[in-house]
Amino acid sequence: MIGWGVALACATYLYRPGGAYFLDNAHLITHEAGHLLFGYTGNQTIMVVMGTGFELLVPLLLAVSFAWRGHTTGTAVCAWGFFNAFISIGIYMADARDKALPLVSPGVASDEVEGHDWEYLFNWLGVIKHDVQIGNATRYLGYLGMIAVILWLVYMWRRSENGTLNEGRWE
Ligand SMILES: [Zn+2]
Repeated sequence: MIGWGVALACATYLYRPGGAYFLDNAHLITHEAGHLLFGYTGNQTIMVVMGTGFELLVPLLLAVSFAWRGHTTGTAVCAWGFFNAFISIGIYMADARDKALPLVSPGVASDEVEGHDWEYLFNWLGVIKHDVQIGNATRYLGYLGMIAVILWLVYMWRRSENGTLNEGRWE
């Protein structure tokens, strides 16, 4: 049942009806919230970094909180969402020099009112020439992570005695 849910989520993701996947909208919200929240620090670099930072921190902390309680499905879904964010982040990173992406688009984590996050950050780090390589590596990391989460879920299901996921009691 849960396995099918995850499989369905993956299928929906790959199929992408209407171009944008619903998770991208969730990522966009946490991304913008991060900019807003850390904008109060008054530090431009922190504000720019924490768009992506917060976007990753939210599903990560959720995954950790589920893992803490030994909740298999919750951990898997949040970890999957965490790695899923890497894909739109990677696409956005690879666009640092081109800046071809629309300013706010739910398919990718681009949003900028003041500028392109990664144009700013890569210039700050001095790696702007490698934007495409870094972006692609980030994207592949996301795919690997998503696959790893699915494999882990299958493993957790296989190791349980009665074919259920034994929510709330990891050994
Ligand atoms: Zn941003």
